[in-house]
Amino acid sequence: MSEELGITVKKKENFDEWYIQTILRSELADYSDVSGCLILRPDAYFIWEQIQKYTDKEFKKVGIKNVYFPLFIPEKLLNREKEHVEGFNPEVAWVTYAGERELDERLAVRPTSETIMYPSYSKWIRSWRDMPLRFNQWNNVVRWEFKHAVPFLRTREFLWNEGHTVFATEKEALAEQEEIVNIYKNITENVLAIPSIIGNKTEKEKFAGAVFTIAFEHMLPDGRAIQGPDFHHDGQKFAKAFDITFLDKKKERKYAWQNTFAISTREIGVMISLHSDDKGLVLPPKVALTQVVIVPIYKTENRNDVLKEARKIENTLSDFRTQVDDRDGVSPGFKFNEWELKGVPIRLEIGPKDIEKKQVVLVRRDTGKKSIVKINNISKEIENLLDGIHSNLLENAKKIMENHTHIAKNYDDLKEIIKTKMGMVKVCWCGEKKCEEKIKEDTTAKIITIPLKQENVNKCICCGKKAKYSVLVAKTY
Ligand SMILES: [Zn+2]
Repeated sequence: MSEELGITVKKKENFDEWYIQTILRSELADYSDVSGCLILRPDAYFIWEQIQKYTDKEFKKVGIKNVYFPLFIPEKLLNREKEHVEGFNPEVAWVTYAGERELDERLAVRPTSETIMYPSYSKWIRSWRDMPLRFNQWNNVVRWEFKHAVPFLRTREFLWNEGHTVFATEKEALAEQEEIVNIYKNITENVLAIPSIIGNKTEKEKFAGAVFTIAFEHMLPDGRAIQGPDFHHDGQKFAKAFDITFLDKKKERKYAWQNTFAISTREIGVMISLHSDDKGLVLPPKVALTQVVIVPIYKTENRNDVLKEARKIENTLSDFRTQVDDRDGVSPGFKFNEWELKGVPIRLEIGPKDIEKKQVVLVRRDTGKKSIVKINNISKEIENLLDGIHSNLLENAKKIMENHTHIAKNYDDLKEIIKTKMGMVKVCWCGEKKCEEKIKEDTTAKIITIPLKQENVNKCICCGKKAKYSVLVAKTY
């Protein structure tokens, strides 16, 4: 393989460049002619389809149904909830013309769909019997950020799910939190092998328009934190702005209670950054388009025999996404490198001597470990190994998070850790915005989460007063 095909920088030495090269050269994604907008190639789109498939199945189990609302939002609707519009205004892309004709009212390209969905909710919800109303849509959104775009992690257009649910009581709305958090935890950990800290966002960092936001926080290998899936409880704010009311059992008119929640293509970027290495991608088996690649090793005189055996094994492994790389004129060594670059979890090598011994050489992508496996036992071996690879990736990602988690003894210590080591720093906080802002000013890091699991809450790291929470401070992506 030529230098240009492989990765030319080390992950530890230049993470940002390594990340871009890994994505482009493994042919996961490519840049487009629209700045900040990414093209997902088949291997990447397959990953997204798996995230959708697993998530959607869980949504349906709890009674969430899929819908589709328009891409465009009339300006007056977008403006209806004040905090919400303030949160999104700078990033909204507008449609102003149709052909040569200027539109009477500007149309926003959805940055999120609350304001296009809720007028319909207001119409459809009449009585307590119309709830819970639990809808979701799988779509794209546009947020025209001016920060430097990074594939998957920050792009102007991205794919996600938007859950928008309505309940008759606050209690029911709040009860949904655990259900959704569990679904996202299952997807991130059991499908993508990504660990998270789950917690509340501060008032300052919560979603525009929400009463509170619960978010998953991930740790990138370079010590920066990045936010993953989230759940927002909106209370009655949107219900009041969009007149979503109903007659309760006593025939009294009440405002409804709402939640929203999302997981996006950003998770693909987090997954790549955590598991991949200097040779290229390392894919968790559940999202790998090819799980097992069989590379036959032959000369012209035994080509047909070796290929025949390789096909037989491919058939045996039909429960897995298996393919034989039968390209002529490409050396086995080149093929090995290419499949390593593309992150295929398991490679099987088979040549004439292996056929004689009824065996194959098996190579794991995650550890690079080689072993000899008997052909008659191969299906079971592969099944176990795919599970083992997933567990290993998750364990390694947990270690990355642990290694980047620090405890600050005092304020100077916090500043020093952020400056020299980055990562997440555990501190206590009084809950005052003044201290939150001072921390950000002095460290350029922010309070990323108030973890659901609170521990050792004592004195505020900033002002020294009695603390309300233990929190994590980190530089973010
Ligand atoms: Zn304080």
